[in-house]
Amino acid sequence: MPAKLLEGKPIAEKIKETIRQDIQALSKTPVLASILVGDNAAALAYVKSQQKTAEALGIEYRLEKLESGISKEGLIEFIQKLNQDKSVNGIIIQMPLPSQIDYKKISQFISPEKDIEGVNPANMGKIVFGQAKILPCTAAAVMELLKETGLDLYGKEVVVVGHSEIVGKPLALLLLDKFATISVCHIGTSKAERLKAHVKRAEVLIVAVGKAGLIKGDWIKKGAVVIDVGINRVADKIVGDVEFEAAQKRASWITPVPGGVGPLTVTMLMRNLVEAAKLQK
Ligand code: NAD
Repeated sequence: MPAKLLEGKPIAEKIKETIRQDIQALSKTPVLASILVGDNAAALAYVKSQQKTAEALGIEYRLEKLESGISKEGLIEFIQKLNQDKSVNGIIIQMPLPSQIDYKKISQFISPEKDIEGVNPANMGKIVFGQAKILPCTAAAVMELLKETGLDLYGKEVVVVGHSEIVGKPLALLLLDKFATISVCHIGTSKAERLKAHVKRAEVLIVAVGKAGLIKGDWIKKGAVVIDVGINRVADKIVGDVEFEAAQKRASWITPVPGGVGPLTVTMLMRNLVEAAKLQK
């Protein structure tokens, strides 16, 4: 039997219901400040999708457009102004940024209370202690998808491919809290020609690399849950990192790309905003 599709949209709809209830319980409309530097097409597409989701939930989406030539210091000053602005509950910096600005050096200036992407070191650090209220959106989206399968992660062999700060690393910690046994693979694993061996024993496989077809369908363990975070454009189509058709024949659950992780990520951003507003209250 082919794997069941693990789609993000129906889960996102359920979570949006609780977000709406939380917003009603707040005494004011939550405000999301979105910093857009320049006019990169990909960043503009993210803005549009976030704007649409925010408006449908009753969140005020305040777009802050800055000149593409802004200096690092100028951007930090702007972030600090938003940190102090009591009407703003959450701040996000749109990617990609112009080349003179390094996101990793800038994002930590967003105060932990308004860091709705969960990238401030203070929020990252709380994950280690199992105390995080605001999680990096993509990692949180993957945890929601896993919850939907009903699989008990206790003692399971989980393999995460990709060790970025926003996906692989926080996910490893979140999964450890569920008592899963985690292996995190990355470019070093591939170079050592050990990726296939790790993937083959995964009962849960999460891939966030950004290389179409990296994970071959016949590497998937029979009955595995496969979450494909990757987004790749191939001949005008969006595909993930896993060979979908072949993997679907072996897995028990698999996320489609597009339509799996993606629709949930923006919902997680809005959930973080409401969480931040509650904490600020
Ligand atoms: P990144 O680009 O920061 O890092 C890539 C990771 O892949 C690194 O850990 C690197 O070591 C590893 N890697 C590179 N080549 C490899 C190989 N041949 N074998 C094994 N590992 C290899 O990662 P990111 O920012 O987490 O993004 C990863 C992918 O996930 C991208 O396609 C991105 O577009 C996508 N993404 C999707 C969403 C979503 O909402 N669906 C959100 C975030 C990222």
